[in-house]
Amino acid sequence: MALIFQRTYPPALPAEGLAFWFPFRKGELLVQQTERGSIDIMSGTEPDLAALQPQTITYLGILNGKPCMACEVSAETPLPENWKALELRALYNEVDASLYGIAGYAFQILLWQQDSRYCPVCAHQTEIIPASWGKQCPNCGYISYPPAVPAVLALVHDGERVLLGHKPGWGPRYSILAGFVEPGESLEECVEREVMEEVGVQVTDITYVGSQPWPFPHQLMVGYMARYAGGEIRVDEQELDEAHWFHVDELPNLPPPLSLARQIVEAWVKIHRGEK
Ligand SMILES: [Zn+2]
Repeated sequence: MALIFQRTYPPALPAEGLAFWFPFRKGELLVQQTERGSIDIMSGTEPDLAALQPQTITYLGILNGKPCMACEVSAETPLPENWKALELRALYNEVDASLYGIAGYAFQILLWQQDSRYCPVCAHQTEIIPASWGKQCPNCGYISYPPAVPAVLALVHDGERVLLGHKPGWGPRYSILAGFVEPGESLEECVEREVMEEVGVQVTDITYVGSQPWPFPHQLMVGYMARYAGGEIRVDEQELDEAHWFHVDELPNLPPPLSLARQIVEAWVKIHRGEK
């Protein structure tokens, strides 16, 4: 069962004692290797991290009564014994789902702390807006908050077949269609537009499936299923090099299990088999 994470905001300070630590070095999370070869998010006190020389120590919230802390580690700092640097994607399924989610959040907030030090309008140093991650410029008043950029995923289905696209460089893998939401459109309008732009087909019955933060770096993926309503596949070669219909029993190589795209395909297969 996922543990409950309670967020905190500056200038809140953590209680002393043990904390979960999310140190990032060159964009990779530093984790500890256990004797059995599995990996753990570091649980310890600040002095336990001394060898990593942590910087930008940031209090994110409380998980199961324990503070969660993010920090930066300089690229020059050597890794002490039993530490390992991992890409966030490699952490999936290795740790509790809540810890995996907080690792992504930690990555985003550290990046935000870095990117928001100066005002984008007048270049003056910014100040925190208390009780939030927001920043305000004391010179011109400009206010900014950490970004969450929505993008849709759309599984287009037609009876026993599903429309999957392929991008150059994906190897044997195919996926459902995806695209960023434009200013001035709803999520459903975005699904219709993206599907039309990328493969030239019309869809109807657009239904929400679920969403997933995708911290690479700031996306929020919002997943839909949409029923095919007409048109022949016409691939936008700026976006895809191929798109085809696949039968439910003959699906190609799909995105990894951590991705919402994969989860939506699996949900569709389940619904479909249930209906048979
Ligand atoms: Zn300013």
